Amino acid sequence: MSRRDYYDVLGVSRDADDSALKKAYRKIALDSHPDRNPGNKEAEDRFKEASEAYAILSDSEKRRAYDRFGFAGVGAGGPGAGPDFGDLGNFTDVFNDLFGDLFGQRGAGRRRGRGQRGADLRYNLEIDLTDALNGLESKLRIPKMRPCKVCEGSGQKPGTSPESCSRCRGTGQLMFQQGFFRISRPCDECGGAGEIVRHRCSECRGAGRTEASQTISVTIPPGIEEGQRLRLAGEGEAGIAGGPPGDLYVVVSIRPHPLFERDGMDLHCEVPVPFVQAALGAEIEVPTLEGKVTLRVPEGTQSGTVMRLRGKGLPALRSSARGDQLVRIFVEVPTRITDRQRELLEQFAAESGHEVSPQHKSFLDKLRDLFG
Ligand SMILES: [Zn+2]
Ligand SMILES: [Zn+2]
Repeated sequence: MSRRDYYDVLGVSRDADDSALKKAYRKIALDSHPDRNPGNKEAEDRFKEASEAYAILSDSEKRRAYDRFGFAGVGAGGPGAGPDFGDLGNFTDVFNDLFGDLFGQRGAGRRRGRGQRGADLRYNLEIDLTDALNGLESKLRIPKMRPCKVCEGSGQKPGTSPESCSRCRGTGQLMFQQGFFRISRPCDECGGAGEIVRHRCSECRGAGRTEASQTISVTIPPGIEEGQRLRLAGEGEAGIAGGPPGDLYVVVSIRPHPLFERDGMDLHCEVPVPFVQAALGAEIEVPTLEGKVTLRVPEGTQSGTVMRLRGKGLPALRSSARGDQLVRIFVEVPTRITDRQRELLEQFAAESGHEVSPQHKSFLDKLRDLFG
């Protein structure tokens, strides 16, 4: 594997000073940082390459060794021979140590003028089953942080600008000599930002955002299911000091319905039918999510029979397909009868004689098989 010269990687001359190195690395690292190029292998490689080059060249001892002996001088002779740069985490550390948190992962609130992403928000929205059928346009009132109107999120008093930090000369880092090592740490004067806001916005006291509640309208599509979430990009909390806003997640739950149970796109319900109607056949009224429909129950319908109402279920998400409603018949026997009704039923029994119904017969057959 051929390797590019560290100076070429950073695009600097061999006599580049520390600040030129840093500037060159910073530009490459910002462009190719994995957080800005998710899934882009080429950018990741470029980031690694530049980070390795910078790690060597920014260390005066290693740089001297590299200048004299090349890759061999810094123990980076080839794949696997170099210092442990295989793990991208190391680079992210190098990067963060140098430039602090540009991507909102660490050092919350410390960085000024570079911004931190706002928090994601979650909103639990309870809807009715009919809303899952028809869809719903809902207005959500959400308490959240918004960019300060006065300073437009910068945290600075309008008309003023931040001063470059004199302690670290705008680099945000302080260098120390400790034994053989040169160590850098974030400047404590400016918190590592390299600049200091002397005149803070009085509205937000420098935070760049204020508390507010906001009404957002959200469209719930027909066919939405329990627990599904909708992402509203950029509708979360405002970023800190000019950072991008977070996202809003609307998590949908569906209120239990007194009549219907949902099974994917299908709906189940149970309808009681008086035993005489079940025996004689009848037209009964059945509820659906869109009102009542008439269902023909054939003569001799048994309890537990399931009848299908096609297309009366719920729609699929983003499709015109629709499920069915499954009606389970529950044959009801009267709990109280008049003397006259009793007489008639006794007549009915006498008329039936020893005639056995099909289900009863199959039950008796099974009993005989089991007990002889
Ligand atoms: Zn402000
Ligand atoms: Zn400073």
